[in-house]
Order: sequence, then structure tokens, then C-alpha cells
Amino acid sequence: MNNSNLSMPVLFVGHGSPMYAIENNEFSQSWRNLGETLPVPKAIICISAHWETRGTQITAMQQPPTIHDFGGFPRELYEVQYPAPGSPELASEIIESIADAHIHPDQKWGLDHGAWSVIRRMYPQANIPVIQLSLDYRKSPKEHYELARELTSLRDKGVLIIGSGNIVHNLRLVAWDKTDDEEYGHDWAVEANEKIKRLIMDNGHKELIDYNLLGKDVQLAIPTPEHFLPLLYALAIKRESDDLSFFNDKTVMGSLSMTSLLIH
Ligand code: ZN
Repeated sequence: MNNSNLSMPVLFVGHGSPMYAIENNEFSQSWRNLGETLPVPKAIICISAHWETRGTQITAMQQPPTIHDFGGFPRELYEVQYPAPGSPELASEIIESIADAHIHPDQKWGLDHGAWSVIRRMYPQANIPVIQLSLDYRKSPKEHYELARELTSLRDKGVLIIGSGNIVHNLRLVAWDKTDDEEYGHDWAVEANEKIKRLIMDNGHKELIDYNLLGKDVQLAIPTPEHFLPLLYALAIKRESDDLSFFNDKTVMGSLSMTSLLIH
């Protein structure tokens, strides 16, 4: 590989509706563009909002199955397969190199839609190994951030780290009368998204870890932690010399922001 002396970028991707996995819209188009423009990774590790476990797990199978972890969508979406290989070698390397974190190899999960809906657009040939790291629901945001920092050196080994969630994600307050790719955000959602973006730009990681103290709008934006924590993983892996760029920076359906971050 010719990328061995290159530090890979890090991504946080707002994945939004599972339908974006099959719809061609501006979000899925930008995922495709990323795949065409970023350095080709040797492997991908994805931290998805949709895999929460007791203790931290890492997928360690040779061939992870495509998991359709949602209900009530068209059959076409259930028929999507993303047959990227796994990498038991990379999983073991991570387990051994971060021994203090007690990461367990997993043989039961696979790739959930937080991972495949985005990655199949980036790498449609499914020729790059993908593993997933779970979110331990017992850990505090600060503990997640600290674990994530341990992944930083993977960037120098050609591994692309992708956090997949949504900065603003409140399914109870979705505006169901809006189509899912029309830009529309409740005032609190837009305000929370802007507040979090400012903190990202200012490297306000401590404030972002303590997001519950950021006021009512952010509390509405993050009613449960799982879609926000993948952002903390990406930020923890950022180096001081890195640049930040936002993309897909839109709020849809009132209470979901697609705002995504490239750290490079
Ligand atoms: Zn989701």
C-alpha cells in the first residue's frame, strides 16, 4: 500500500434515516464523494450509535453479516447486503494494544445500518475490511473519550476511523409532515447544532463531554447519548495539527441534524 506513511483522516458522519442507504440524495452523494477523494484505507473501524453493549466489544469475524436493525421500511432496504470482509487480525491487534480497556472479540454482531448505510456509498466495491467497536452503555462520556484516544495511532497504520451517529437526534420530536431530505429544523435543534459546531471549532472537548450542562436546547438534541457519543470518539482522535471541515450541515425532519465532520 502506498498510504503507509500517511496519517488517515477521521470522520464523524451523521447517518440520518436508514432510507438514505438506498435514496440518492445530497447526503448519500457526499458519502460517495468522500470515498472518491479520501486516501484509500487499509481497513475501517466504525463506532456506530446502533451497537450498545455491556462492556466494549469488537467484531472479530472473517465475514461480518449485514444487519438490518430497523423496522417498518420497504423491502428494498432489507435486501441490501454489504459483503465487506472483517479483519480478525486488526480486532486482535486493537484488543492487545489497549489491554486496559478489556475489549472482547465478538462473533455475533456484524455491520449495522449506522455502519453500512454510509460505508457502502463510500466504498461500493466492499473490498475494504470493516470492523465495528461497540459503545459500552456503562461508560460515561468521559470514559468513552478516553478509550477513543487509544485508537489514535491506528491512523498511522492506514485505518480510517468513522464515528456514525447524529449530533441532533430526537425521534420523539420529529416533524413527520416534512420529507426526510427537506431542510427543516426546530429552533432548539438549529441552536443546539450551532452551539455544538462552535465548540467543535474551538476544541471545547471538555464542554462537549459535559454536554448535559450546555442548556435546554442541547438536552433536547441529545435525549439519549448513543447518537452523540460517536462524535466524541472522532474528536478524541483529533490531533492538534489537524484541520476540521463540516459537511452535510443541515437539519432535517425538525429534530435530526446531518452535520458531519472531516478531521484531516
Ligand atoms: Zn441512527
